[in-house]
Amino acid sequence: MKPAQVIIAGGGIGGLSLALSLHQAGIRGCVYEAVRDPLPLGVGINLQPSAVRELTELGLGDSLAHIGIGTRRLNLCNKIGQLIHSEPRGLAAGYRWPQISIHRGELQSVLLRAARERIGDGNIRTGAKLRSFEQRGESVRARFSDGESGSERVEEADILVGADGIHSAVRRQVYPDEGEPRFAHQILWRAAVEAEPFLDGQTIVIAGHFDQRIIVYPIRKVAGGKLLTNWICQMTVPGQAQLPENWNRRVEKEKVLSAFERWRFPWLDFPTLIERSPSIFEFPLVDRDPVPAWSFGRVTLLGDAAHPMQPVGGQAGSQAILDARTLARALIETVDPVAALKRYDAERRPTMNDLILRNRNLGPEAAMQLVEERAPNGFARIEDVISRHELDAIVKSFSAAAGLDVESVNHRPSYLVASARIIPTSPF
Ligand SMILES: Cc1cc2nc3c(=O)[nH]c(=O)nc-3n(C[C@H](O)[C@H](O)[C@H](O)COP(=O)(O)OP(=O)(O)OC[C@H]3O[C@@H](n4cnc5c(N)ncnc54)[C@H](O)[C@@H]3O)c2cc1C
Repeated sequence: MKPAQVIIAGGGIGGLSLALSLHQAGIRGCVYEAVRDPLPLGVGINLQPSAVRELTELGLGDSLAHIGIGTRRLNLCNKIGQLIHSEPRGLAAGYRWPQISIHRGELQSVLLRAARERIGDGNIRTGAKLRSFEQRGESVRARFSDGESGSERVEEADILVGADGIHSAVRRQVYPDEGEPRFAHQILWRAAVEAEPFLDGQTIVIAGHFDQRIIVYPIRKVAGGKLLTNWICQMTVPGQAQLPENWNRRVEKEKVLSAFERWRFPWLDFPTLIERSPSIFEFPLVDRDPVPAWSFGRVTLLGDAAHPMQPVGGQAGSQAILDARTLARALIETVDPVAALKRYDAERRPTMNDLILRNRNLGPEAAMQLVEERAPNGFARIEDVISRHELDAIVKSFSAAAGLDVESVNHRPSYLVASARIIPTSPF
């Protein structure tokens, strides 16, 4: 029997994807979001083909194609901009769905708009912060408070899903001793700026090494042939104390420029991107240790609440969407809701726990660190520094572990759409 009612705590990428997936599965879900007026916050985020497939099967492919950029290549470079490795991505790599680089806030707006239209405004309750929950027999009671008025309400449902991000209140209740996220002693400076296209205008570049690197990719077309370009600087900061994880904390341009003033490449003038950026945000590199369970009776975790990971390989948003689809399928295919949550946990948690640990070891960017150690002043021929075999081993092992290999994405059955036709979104 399908559950009659699901409470989703958190209206971010994962929570909204779940609301839409439950609707598609014929299950009633209601989203409770702590923020009263969700704004399109954040900068760039990457949607892997596996996640684009899911959003396409939710009927959102065209909207995403309209506001994102179809990524065609990933280039790994050293700190002076020499090419170490280049590989096709998305459609160019043989996936039936594109990889899309997109503004995180605009993605959230697309999901929110679709959710409001499909499940109704009344089932998206903002200004409702989950405080605690209690399981009683065959139901869950969740207590919410309104940050502004302080008023409280209690809601009851068959299932509660904690999609409430890295500081999840649901996770805190099931793991009360866990404490704060784990700081990796690196910081991220992030911004989005209108700029001339670099390379083919559809490439993600990662340049540098473990202690200092940049990640640059376009996320939207803008007027005059320019592209809204997302950039991230990632730096080791050995003695620095943990910074609070606030997506909106700004940092002074001069601080970023002084660390990256020499990063001018023939194909990208990075200091100019920094100089022209309207605002730069600072965020600590954090994650949490894997946990031994996500599902506890009628309560489970999803997205960053379940597997907060370092942003290596552009995985967090995509994996939250895959969690949502897997959970919705488990709920329609398993009679008992408690068994359905266990099945979801068993299907998703081992891979995500593995990914958390792999991301701490750099993922595909491990190749850049090897090159830095072997040729810190650059190279004449990359083959003299790292063999093709070594490069392939690093890059492919990550893709397979994350469930990103072309075969699995293209040929696995649809999670929810029985007669899903495989149609790539158009303009890529
Ligand atoms: C404001 C913001 C900006 C971000 N910007 C970027 C970015 O630029 N690039 C990037 O790669 N990733 C960004 N992220 C993280 C990224 O969205 C996630 O890593 C990923 O998409 C997984 O999504 P999620 O739904 O699990 O978590 P999130 O997207 O973090 O969503 C969690 C949601 O839960 C809400 N919430 C939190 N606590 C409660 C509570 N107690 N009760 C109810 N609701 C609650 C939050 O307000 C939020 O809307 C951002 C996250 C946020 C919240």
